[in-house]
Order: sequence, then C-alpha cells, then structure tokens
Amino acid sequence: MADPKKYDLVQQFNSFKSLDSIYRKFTTERICREWLSKVRWGEVVVCPHCGSIIVYRSKSKVSYHCDECNSCFTPLYGTIFQSTKLPLRKWFVAIWLVINNKKGVSSAMLSRELGITQKSAWYMLMKIRQLLPQEETKLEGAVQIDCGYVGGLLRWCNQKPKSRRDYLRNKVALIGLASKDRYVVKVIDEGNWANINPILRAYIDNRNTVYTDQGHEFMKINKQLGCEHYTVCHEDKRWKDPITGATTSKVEATWSHIKRHHKGIYHKLPKRRSQLYVDEFVYRYNTLKLNQMERAADFFSKISVQVSYKQIDEWSCNV
Ligand SMILES: [Zn+2]
Repeated sequence: MADPKKYDLVQQFNSFKSLDSIYRKFTTERICREWLSKVRWGEVVVCPHCGSIIVYRSKSKVSYHCDECNSCFTPLYGTIFQSTKLPLRKWFVAIWLVINNKKGVSSAMLSRELGITQKSAWYMLMKIRQLLPQEETKLEGAVQIDCGYVGGLLRWCNQKPKSRRDYLRNKVALIGLASKDRYVVKVIDEGNWANINPILRAYIDNRNTVYTDQGHEFMKINKQLGCEHYTVCHEDKRWKDPITGATTSKVEATWSHIKRHHKGIYHKLPKRRSQLYVDEFVYRYNTLKLNQMERAADFFSKISVQVSYKQIDEWSCNV
C-alpha cells in the first residue's frame, strides 16, 4: 500500500517534476500564491504574527487578515520571497534549476533564462543559497577525510609558482568528510590541525572509524578524538590500503566535482562567499538519491526564513 504521506507530497509537488510542468501549472501569480499558502499552512492558515487560526481571506487577492492581532499578511510573509518584486513563477523556476542542476547555475545563465537582470538573478541565487546550509549532526560509521584546494593561480603568475605557499595563495582550502550516506565540506583558512580540529569535533567522535591520507594535519586524530584512525599512503600510487582497507577515494571524488562546478559554471570562487557556494554543491550531492519532487518538498520545508537584500550585502562583506 502506498505511503499516504508520500502520496500527499507527490500530489503537492507534482508540478515540480520538470520545468515544463512548472510553466504549465503556475500560469498566474494568484495560482502561485494559493499553492504557496497550501504548502506553508495546509488547509488551516496560521497567522505568522500571533499564531492565531482565526484568519479571513480577502476576496480580491490571496492575502489574509487576522482577527486576533488585526494584521494583514500574504503567503510570502516571513519567507525568502517576502518583498520580492519578481513573479513567484520566476522564483520557482530558479529554485528548480538550482536544486536539480548537478553543476549549479550561474547568475548570468539564470538572468538569460528568466529575462531578468544579472544583479536580480545574483540576489535570487544568494537568497536560495541561504536555505541550503549543511546539517550540523554527527556522521555515522566509517568516515573518509581529506583536504582539498579549489581556485585558480594568481593572475601575475605567468611562470610556475615558486613555492607551495605561492601555489595556494589564490585557492580556497576545503576539508571534506564523507560517510556512507552523507558528505560535509567546509571552508578553512589552511589545511592544518588548528583549523580542522573544531570541524572534526563537530562531526565525528570516538564511535567513528576515520580514513585519511598521510597528511601531517591528520596525525593527531587518534590521540585527540579517540577514534580509530587508518591511513593510506598515496606516494606509491596506492589508493586503498591492502591490509586495513583504508581509502579516501570517495571524498576525493568530491574535489573533482567541486572543481568542475567552479571552473565550468562560476569561474571564480570568491573566498568570502565560498562557504555558500560549497553548501549549495553539498546539498545537491547529499540529495542525489531524491527525485525532483522530493527535493522540492525538502527545499520548501525550509523557506520560512526571511532574508533581506541588505542582509545579503552585509553578510557577503563580513564573511
Ligand atoms: Zn495574528
């Protein structure tokens, strides 16, 4: 027998099956707002100001009036869509493209797709990315850990970099953790123990088994975190230790994907915003097994976050 919850979900997000079905279903702004209201509150609308359910709907457009606190609100209130001047249909198309395109979508491409300015498309993408942070829960079982570097060489570097420091100067350092069913990738200043220690403590504990390469930054794992730690030596081109079975190939595969994602779509990974771009990538990577409708349902379950344009500007400058 079909799971009724899953059936409901498929019914609600059926229009997110493809871009074509979004265009066919959401023909007017009113339909978009009605659908959003249903997704947010179901049949009983709840006032976002006071939590009351004594709410009346206005006849002219999809907005509500609360009898308890005497306030008016729309389904957009308190979500990333609040105070937007763009039609909701364009937002839905943008969301579909971001969560379903494996390598992401650039603001230039989105602006062409939606017929809006590149600046508007960039803000849209930034708002969508705010809703895709990585889960902060512990990983389970065996965890592969590796450090990677993404980004180009410095522009003035016509010749080969003289030192490793020169080579890494314009790159973003990342630490990746891969368990059986989940990936975590975080931006760090540099691949050393002081930087990776708080991240490892947040995601692994003494119940995990850890596999790494023989990098110096990983040598304190066993002593400091108390978990079993096995290494694989990459110097003699061995990718799996024949005795312990230690390997880091799963987490290393993410580097090649992130590099293609960065080179092919974004071209530049600004250091101060790189965690947002990485979060977006990891979200898609972790939801690969979901279909388009399930992914849309997951995304829309997080939309009750209000992000202003001013916040994005300030946030982007401070990070
Ligand atoms: Zn109210």
